[in-house]
Amino acid sequence: MKRVDYLIVGQGIAGTMLSWFLLRAGKRVIMMDDGKANSASRVAAGIINPVSGRRFEPAWMYDTIYPFARATYEEMGKLLQVDVFRERELWSVFPTQQMRDAFISKTNGNAYTEMPAQLRYEGLLDQPFGAAIVRGATVNLRALLPAWRSYLEAREALVSSHFQQDRLEVKGTGVVYEDIQADKIIFCDGMATAASPFFKEVKFLPNKGEVLLVRIPGLDTADIIKKGITLVPQEDGLFWAGSSFVWDYENEAPTLQQREILERNLGQLLKAPYEIQGQLASVRPSGNDRRPIVGLHPQYPAIGLFNGLGTKGCSLAPFMAAHFAEVLSGNALLMREISLERYFNISRG
Ligand SMILES: Cc1cc2nc3c(=O)[nH]c(=O)nc-3n(C[C@H](O)[C@H](O)[C@H](O)COP(=O)(O)OP(=O)(O)OC[C@H]3O[C@@H](n4cnc5c(N)ncnc54)[C@H](O)[C@@H]3O)c2cc1C
Repeated sequence: MKRVDYLIVGQGIAGTMLSWFLLRAGKRVIMMDDGKANSASRVAAGIINPVSGRRFEPAWMYDTIYPFARATYEEMGKLLQVDVFRERELWSVFPTQQMRDAFISKTNGNAYTEMPAQLRYEGLLDQPFGAAIVRGATVNLRALLPAWRSYLEAREALVSSHFQQDRLEVKGTGVVYEDIQADKIIFCDGMATAASPFFKEVKFLPNKGEVLLVRIPGLDTADIIKKGITLVPQEDGLFWAGSSFVWDYENEAPTLQQREILERNLGQLLKAPYEIQGQLASVRPSGNDRRPIVGLHPQYPAIGLFNGLGTKGCSLAPFMAAHFAEVLSGNALLMREISLERYFNISRG
């Protein structure tokens, strides 16, 4: 029997970050992950965008979570010897003159945006109303996730298999799963949590996103480019072009319908020719109030959840994982807005 403090199920960005902070706190951790090819973290572009919506409103808690995320990714990158984090400008093309005017009048004093001194990408993009610059970043999930997996594997802290509910025994003092005995099991399994018998009360509002991988021979940039669709340069020279938001979907597979919509959006942004090289799809694990869902189960304190990262896994995961690790160590009280207890109608007074 292997004895650990925490068995974590799921090595997306949530499980990666939680295992990082628990290991740093000196805890013994085993990660179980089934390597699902189209998990949200394996399909995501890794964008960190300081503003949201058409009004360029600063994102929730951004001033706190961004510097923390940046420091965490840089530290992980150093340890794992991979390029994880990169600050980038987001070239946000105005779709109308009205949007441009609204941006100029409303964003005075917004520290994350500015009007460019010069128009970029002339002849390559359709941008009659110009563009704003947003100071964002990207997380290279395609490098970080496998590197962290190898790190855990080298320390015999990784089990590459699919967690099965019927093999879990929940005891008063902890849990047993096959030959693993843990004080706690923490589910970081993304949308799989929606089918868990322990978390039926949690209201997920999942939405599916589809993405094209495109080659754009005339475009060479490190910027993120956005107008209806977002282009993110990838290490292999392709651009990640996405993504759609679909609330009503049959399954997780890519569809012809979304491919056509994404292509139409690309056509409205690009003047340069492009070739489609691939299509991906995944489901964003969002809660109904779009806040993280974190904490221990009110009836089974050996079972925990770290989920609900929605559209913002890369910016939220480091800070929220560090906070949860502190809570688990008894050094902090869980922030109310993210507490799992909100779904169980429990008042803390
Ligand atoms: C198209 C798209 C684009 C996105 N773009 C961005 C972006 O640019 N920036 C951003 O911040 N966020 C983005 N997101 C959101 C982001 O992907 C999510 O917030 C984040 O990935 C959620 O991470 P997670 O670890 O909670 O879940 P997941 O990434 O889904 O991870 C769950 C993990 O659990 C494992 N697992 C599940 N069930 C089991 C089981 N039974 N046994 C073992 N393992 C299991 C899976 O293999 C997986 O590794 C995007 C999402 C989509 C779909």
